[in-house]
Amino acid sequence: SVTDQAFVTLATDDVYCQGALVLGQSLRNHKTSRKLTVLITPEISSGMRSVLRSVFDEVIQVDVLDSADSVHLALMQRPELGVTFTKLRCWTLTQFSKCVFMDADTLVLCNVDELFDREEFSAAPDSGWPDCFNSGVFVFRPSLKTYNLLLQFAAEHGSFDGGDQGLLNSFFSNWATADIGKHLPFLYNLSSSAVYTYVPAFNHFGRDAKVVHFLGATKPWNYKYNLQTKRVMQDDTTSGSFHQLSFLALWWNIYSASILPLLE
Ligand code: UDP
Ligand code: MN
Repeated sequence: SVTDQAFVTLATDDVYCQGALVLGQSLRNHKTSRKLTVLITPEISSGMRSVLRSVFDEVIQVDVLDSADSVHLALMQRPELGVTFTKLRCWTLTQFSKCVFMDADTLVLCNVDELFDREEFSAAPDSGWPDCFNSGVFVFRPSLKTYNLLLQFAAEHGSFDGGDQGLLNSFFSNWATADIGKHLPFLYNLSSSAVYTYVPAFNHFGRDAKVVHFLGATKPWNYKYNLQTKRVMQDDTTSGSFHQLSFLALWWNIYSASILPLLE
């Protein structure tokens, strides 16, 4: 049934909560029939918790899981990604039979409830290395058995990129070859930066995009937005394409219309 299925996201600080709130609101705007759950860690402020409760059905506190893999993370210049191991906690949500995990830096452009027709472990290719899946959107079945196996695997093998994506790709290592049904179309995890690496493909297929993922170091909430002109402001470091800017504007539209009033 649909009541034991949920969209799940994660926020380990109040900044990422802004992304979680926009994602949750975008799922509401497109009338999902599934529950909305956010995993938070102890440092989330009480004010933010009450705002989260107005968008999500369930706000669940978990403890931080750290990959403690600072060598690999330093190589990737993203030391903050260690906390993404906390994502593994989503397998403990055994009150649900099936879930769709979505990063807090994703945004749905339409109803995507059909994702629940997929099985564990379904995900879309990563634009940087397409034989790996991107762990920003995936279908899974909560299970303490799987959770413990993941922790055991993490302890024994670590993660080749120091974050959850390397670990999950090693754990679900037959994803690339075993079952094409577990390959979500790229349209369910369209990385906003991949848009301009293959412009003709974006021009041809992009109109059917279903989920945008603002992956990388600069997140939508790092941009400046003019509330009067409703435009995202660009500086030298944010030389995005037109389409990237229109996705950013969409994020900011939801944030300014539905989330900012709750935060004030
Ligand atoms: N995350 C978090 N706090 C952090 C870093 C990450 O809560 O400090 C969560 C959040 O849900 C985020 C996900 O982990 O979307 C993955 O991290 P991120 O999206 O920054 O990685 P990227 O997609 O850019 O590789
Ligand atoms: Mn992400």
